[in-house]
Amino acid sequence: MRDMLPLLKNTDFPAIKRARMHTLQVNLGYLCNQTCFHCHVNAGPNRKELMDETNINLLIQLMELSGVKTLDLTGGAPEMNPHFKKLVLAARKLKINVIDRCNLTILNEDGYEWLADFLAENQVEVAASLPCYLEDNVDAQRGDGVFQSSIEGIKKLNALGYGMDDSKLTLNLVYNPQGISLPPSQEALENAYKKELLARYDIHFNELFTITNQPIARFGSTLVTKGQFDEYMQILKDNFQQANVKGVMCRTLISIDWQGYVYDCDFNQMLGLHAPIEDEEKLHIAQLIAQEELQQTLDYGLAGQPITVMNHCYACTAGQGSSCGGTLG
Ligand code: SF4
Ligand code: SF4
Repeated sequence: MRDMLPLLKNTDFPAIKRARMHTLQVNLGYLCNQTCFHCHVNAGPNRKELMDETNINLLIQLMELSGVKTLDLTGGAPEMNPHFKKLVLAARKLKINVIDRCNLTILNEDGYEWLADFLAENQVEVAASLPCYLEDNVDAQRGDGVFQSSIEGIKKLNALGYGMDDSKLTLNLVYNPQGISLPPSQEALENAYKKELLARYDIHFNELFTITNQPIARFGSTLVTKGQFDEYMQILKDNFQQANVKGVMCRTLISIDWQGYVYDCDFNQMLGLHAPIEDEEKLHIAQLIAQEELQQTLDYGLAGQPITVMNHCYACTAGQGSSCGGTLG
């Protein structure tokens, strides 16, 4: 993925600094039961990279020390990490809100019959990709059969109370465009999703998050292959909104890779751009825990530290803005 860097360097994206940290976003590994076209981590069934138990234990220590409010689990399919349950249970014991970035189809895989009940019992918030309410569009982006399996997964979650009125179980859906365009209005699309998914499949969800595709990894490489990279970058730059800069998610989270190293966000992690904290070339969570000075810094959210920015950052500030929680503002 580092071969994307020459295309992203020499940026005029504004310098940004950290605010107080409230979220720990953790990539539990690149193993996934799917191989989606837009996947920014190139995840798939043959990937072997998974966070080990030593780093899981360090993360639990970090959660205890840092007072983070939210643990946001990504992958791959985070549930395929053998230590997923241990980490979730530890976080919930600390009253930390846990978000599982679930691809929905994992709920139907052999060996994962426990998953839906486990998520519900622990009040884990589910954020699930569903890039369209039309079967053909989803299958084109995420693979044959993914749409029907996703609907089946949502039905399982709905049956447990997820996404239902008067329930504490949250199911948010995530949309990303299929080509070189920005997402449409989040509010209008959420209304359309709610209407269509209820009418067609009798399924329910809480909110829809629209996310702008990052010009990196599998999506970025495809843009390069198709000769569309420059055109897409220009769209992102032409739609830059200064007001979105203060809300970019890297200001309030740190992203941890499957080996326990620290990054400003999941996208920088995929590009191998380590967080420029304390002039460390590579900062590991073990160092955050061990160094008293850094513990104190962490308490204050690493506030004031610079964030590594390149041209892909324009995907976060274009139009309505984009983050793991949808639009900014
Ligand atoms: S389900 Fe998610 S992690 Fe898996 S391949 Fe698709 S986008 Fe990547
Ligand atoms: S890609 Fe977005 S979240 Fe990541 S460093 Fe750039 S602005 Fe921040």
